[in-house]
This record gives sequence, structure tokens and C-alpha cells, in this order.
Amino acid sequence: MAIPKPIRLLAAACMALFFFLVVQIMRSPGEVKGPNVDVGKLADMFRDPNLDETGEPPEPLHRVQGENYAPGNQNSDRINATLLSLVRNKELEQLIQSMQDLERTWNHKFNYPWTFLNDEPFTAEFKKATQANTNAECRYLEIPKEHWEVPSWINEDLMHESANILEEHDVQYAHMKSYHQMCRWNSGLFYKHPELQDIQYYWRVEPNVHFFCDVDYDVFRYMQDHNKTYGFTVSLYDSPWTVQTLWPETMKFLASGNSHLLAQNNAMNWLTDKERRPNHNHDANGYSTCHFWSNFEIADMNFWRSPAYEAYFEHLDRAGGFFYERWGDAPVHSIGVGLFADKNSIHWFKDIGYQHIPFLNCPNSPKCQGCVAGRFTDGEAWLNKEDCRPNWFKYAGNEWALPDSASEPVEAMTSAQG
Ligand code: GDP
Ligand code: MN
Repeated sequence: MAIPKPIRLLAAACMALFFFLVVQIMRSPGEVKGPNVDVGKLADMFRDPNLDETGEPPEPLHRVQGENYAPGNQNSDRINATLLSLVRNKELEQLIQSMQDLERTWNHKFNYPWTFLNDEPFTAEFKKATQANTNAECRYLEIPKEHWEVPSWINEDLMHESANILEEHDVQYAHMKSYHQMCRWNSGLFYKHPELQDIQYYWRVEPNVHFFCDVDYDVFRYMQDHNKTYGFTVSLYDSPWTVQTLWPETMKFLASGNSHLLAQNNAMNWLTDKERRPNHNHDANGYSTCHFWSNFEIADMNFWRSPAYEAYFEHLDRAGGFFYERWGDAPVHSIGVGLFADKNSIHWFKDIGYQHIPFLNCPNSPKCQGCVAGRFTDGEAWLNKEDCRPNWFKYAGNEWALPDSASEPVEAMTSAQG
């Protein structure tokens, strides 16, 4: 029986489609991978090291013994350091939440002073309530006007136009001038406050963050004794639209006679990775957008005061991107330490359980309460792909990796000398 022509054509089309699909399936996955690789899947493939049991970092560690960290002890073992919080009067309640968590888990043992900063005077209510939540000394500083104001070389019309463009890319806080001011101040001005000149280390604390784990050693002494410059808990990708010219400006800075400032063992390859999220690197003009999430920072202000970082900040400040784009202090600090500090001086405070919505660092330890070990976000699942720690471990190693840990990538195993 003759098969009608339309049916024959349909059968031929089916056969062609079948062979096409077979060829696609047989192709190696490497060839299929491209700029459109599903980063959600990549994030899934990463086994969170916070699932492994976490203890303390290596000795020497300084602990409480008798009265050595008692409040008011003039000969205490405390070093030159402070808890540091930029905050508005109206955020008092949220700040108290953060203070109570940090006092409970750490500072009631070590009694480091708190320093609060504001672009306006603190209210009496703010001072009373904060001091009531710690036995340590509290200091209240107003930010000098010239540190907070939009600099004279910024054109406010252009700033407004630029914010419209940022808004089209869904950049948060695009039109909020104070947010841009805050990012610039955190990037390059806070450590210039006249009352902070004698202080070396700080732990940055924001309102409404959570601390989950008991920490029983002096973290500032840890930084000093182990030659650490910068400590982080969470590392993320940024929105490329907030930092479109940050990397090009960084390259310009290096090319104009400053490349000698690069640290020998820097983290340039972490900053320029384009394998994991190629679109981010592309849209941010060569910057991976990986950064340490700076709402948590334990760091050495002398690094920010160094000629290398000072010159870098000065260049960025003149370039205008704090106002014409929305450069955050997180990418600026991260590029700064990533280029001008030894990457071994950057420390993951894995043992400090921390949350700033919507991300967290939650280690697996009996010292922790209130978070789920290995969980990276309390938000929607797609937020997992914002995790940049796998990239950090790839290029800098995971200093916490166990010598026989099968869960760490090979690169991390060979370079893990934290
Ligand atoms: P986000 O975490 O990026 O959403 O930004 P936040 O609103 O938490 O601001 C970051 C930090 O800067 C927080 O500690 C805020 O309290 C503080 N901050 C932001 N804007 C201002 C401001 O205009 N004045 C003061 N004094 N603090 C600010
Ligand atoms: Mn915040």
C-alpha cells in the first residue's frame, strides 16, 4: 500500500530530528558549556565546607584567664582595637539586636570598646540604650562634614542622570544619595576619623545582624599574631551594573605607574576569574565581581592607611564612580586587599556564625546555635548562586581544609597554607 506523500515527509522529518538529538546528546558536556552555563547547577555542585565540623583556627590564641580581659582593666590583654558601627539614630532597635548577639557570643568575655559613628549627632536615648547593653566603654563620634559630603568635583545633574540608568538595571538605592555617600565613606574615609587615628584593628558591626557561635579567643589578637590584614565570613558576586567602570579604573590606576604596588602573592586571579560566571566578568568589564561582604569585616586599618591603598582610593574617588555608578565599599575593599595585600593575610572567619539577611555563614560546631550548618541563604534557592567562596577557595585555598578532606577541590588542597 502506497504511503501518502505528507506522511512520508513527516517520517523523514522525525528521523532527521532523531539523529539531530542523538548527536547533541553524544557531544561532550565541555562543548555544550558556554556563557549560558547554568550557574545554579554549578552552585549545587559545590559542597559547602561548613558541613565539615569546625573548631578554632590554629594557636596561638589568647583566652580569658582571670581578670586579663575585665572591663576597665588598664593593663588588660586587649590590643588596639574597637568594634565599629556606622548607624543612624532610627536604627537603634536593630543595632541593639546586633550588640546583644555579639556581646553574648564574644564581647562579654573580651570587653573591647564599641565606637559608634554617625553623620548626625547621636541622641541621648541612643547613647543610654547602647551603653546599657555592654560593660565595655562606648564612644560616640560624629563624622566630619568634609568626610561625608559629596565631593566638589561631582556633578549632581550627571549623578541624577546616571542614577536613572542604574535604575533601569534594577540597581538598588540608585537614587539614594546617602547610600552612595555611605559607600564612599566606608571605602576610604572611616579610618581617617581624627578620633580613630590611634586605633589599628576594627570589627565592623551593622544593625540587625546575627551572631550564632561562641568564640572563646581574642579575634583581634588572632589577626595580629597570625599576620592577618582582612577577615571575612561571606563572599558574594556583585551586580555588574553597580561597578561597570570599577575594574577599568583599577586597570588605569595600575597602568599609570602604580603596578609596583601590587602585592607579590596577590589575588588578581580571583578578581578576574571568568570561568564560573562569565556573564558577570563580561558585564563588569573584566572583574569577576567577587567580593567579601563588608557588612562583616575584621580588619587592620593600617592597611587602608598604607600608601598603596590610599593612592588607589584617591584615584577611584576622582573617577566619580561612587556617585555616577554605585560602587560599594565591599568591591572596593576587596579589590584593594586582593591586589595590594598578600592573599595569605586574608582570613575566612569560618568559626564566626553570622547572618546579614539574606546570607549567612553557619559552621558545623557545638558552639553554634540558631542557624543550620552549611546553609548559605535563608532566602530563595536561586540566591545560592551568589556564593563566591568556591572561587576564593579555588585561587587562595581553604585554610580550614583538612589534610585528608575529599571535599576540597585539588587547587585548594595544594595551596591551603592559611
Ligand atoms: P545594605 O546592608 O547595603 O542594605 O545597607 P544598610 O542600610 O544596612 O547600610 C549599611 C550601613 O551603613 C549600616 O550600618 C547603616 O546603619 C549605615 N548607614 C547607611 N546609610 C547611612 C546614613 O545615611 N547615615 C548613617 N549614620 N548610617 C548609615
Ligand atoms: Mn545592611
